[in-house]
Amino acid sequence: MKFGGTSVQDAEAMNRVINIVRRQWADNPGDRPPVVVVSAMSKVTDRLVETSRLAAEGQADQAAQIIGELLTRHLGVASTLVQGPALEELNALLTSDFRALETDVREWAAQHEVTPAASDVIQAIGELASSRIVAAAFRQQGVDAAWVDSRQVLVTDGEHSAALPDMDATAERVSAIVGSKTAAGQVPVMGGFIGATPAGVTTTLGRGGSDYSAAIFGACLDVDEIQIWTDVDGMLTADPRVVSNPLLVPELSFNEASELAYFGAKVLHPSTIVPAVARNIPVRILNSRRPEVRGTMITANGRGDGQALTALACKRSVTVIDITSTRMLMAFGFLRRLFEVFERFKTSVDVVTTSEVSVSVTVDNTRRLEDILSNLRNFAEVSTERDMAIVCIVGENLRSDPTLFSRAVTSLNTVPLRLVSQAASRRNITFVMRDADVTTAMNLLHDQFFGAKVGA
Ligand code: ADP
Ligand code: ASP
Ligand code: MG
Repeated sequence: MKFGGTSVQDAEAMNRVINIVRRQWADNPGDRPPVVVVSAMSKVTDRLVETSRLAAEGQADQAAQIIGELLTRHLGVASTLVQGPALEELNALLTSDFRALETDVREWAAQHEVTPAASDVIQAIGELASSRIVAAAFRQQGVDAAWVDSRQVLVTDGEHSAALPDMDATAERVSAIVGSKTAAGQVPVMGGFIGATPAGVTTTLGRGGSDYSAAIFGACLDVDEIQIWTDVDGMLTADPRVVSNPLLVPELSFNEASELAYFGAKVLHPSTIVPAVARNIPVRILNSRRPEVRGTMITANGRGDGQALTALACKRSVTVIDITSTRMLMAFGFLRRLFEVFERFKTSVDVVTTSEVSVSVTVDNTRRLEDILSNLRNFAEVSTERDMAIVCIVGENLRSDPTLFSRAVTSLNTVPLRLVSQAASRRNITFVMRDADVTTAMNLLHDQFFGAKVGA
């Protein structure tokens, strides 16, 4: 059971978490105890990213001030949920963790440098602190919970801010550390998002990575279900921040969920599905404010509610790169050289379209863009367009019903499309357009495919 940032944003939210876990366990008394994974309290990771930035600029006092504010916020929540000696112990732990971080951050600020490893240490405190509080709050309310330090369980490589799990090593630790707690009837409470290398160096899985942590732990424990508790009713037919009336998608397939997550449905971290697929474990998305809503069930087979499409997604602020071979026609080897450049700079490409002499790709990570462009210019003419966006329509039916493509394109006839792509899986169609057109395009597509169902 993974609870996101808004689901643990304050004492009231944490109380809801405790009730949800308790009720679910009470409903299935014969089951193993659930394993609880929590994110940092909402906005905490953003503030920690800000702390890193300030420290790198040498602004020690400003960075320390944020750490102080965060400590105060956590102590406040702790004192609402926990009492007596347990509170004293919790306060002491939180205080020493945050004070130690402040000392480190001041040192890094003095050097005007926050390495990727240091930045992960800074960000990790969010999940460490929230999970400590939730574990203590469970015990306060009579649930036998045990805090588990995820850094001792989730073994990763050393790719800071985007670490990948070593599933075999993690599985061993999970069964030794987490499995022994559940076998003893305890509810393990762990922070998502964080792990450590085999040498014990703290790492993080990338923003939104607590979903991924939960799926990794779930796969290692071979659980019956991985639950992602969040602030919406489930996977919706479109991002609710872009389309005002999205519908709940009751069921979808692993493949559809992966595509949607990859192309911007933030409700699920894009890697979440990978461990679930490996063990064929269903993933359910649920609303911690409305636990009675049945949410979205993600399984190998997916859905059967008769909708033409499953959902839409959009990814904003992407850059299109047009690469034209400096030879007249595309020589063989051109694509290999081209993609090697992206590989060298560890930048993944989302959409690719080609013509005889040119290739267009989109990237959302522009950290290494200048290096990529200058390398591409060794053998091609290159131009870029920023402020672009990807809009993606997803559904298993796209394979079998050719009219869906024409309906999509026709409904977008007022929107200039820059690239259009349908992959071999034919599970999605991707449109690249100006970022400024995304809201219009998403609403046109949503009206076309889901509009008639509203109130029906
Ligand atoms: P958590 O903190 O629980 O991990 P996130 O903010 O990461 O929550 O993800 C939930 C948010 O994802 C929702 O509040 C919603 O704004 C956004 N979102 C984007 N696309 C979708 C979608 N297709 N369905 C549901 N939510 C979506
Ligand atoms: N706290 C981390 C973030 O904000 C991880 C997560 O919430 O999933 O990105
Ligand atoms: Mg999230």
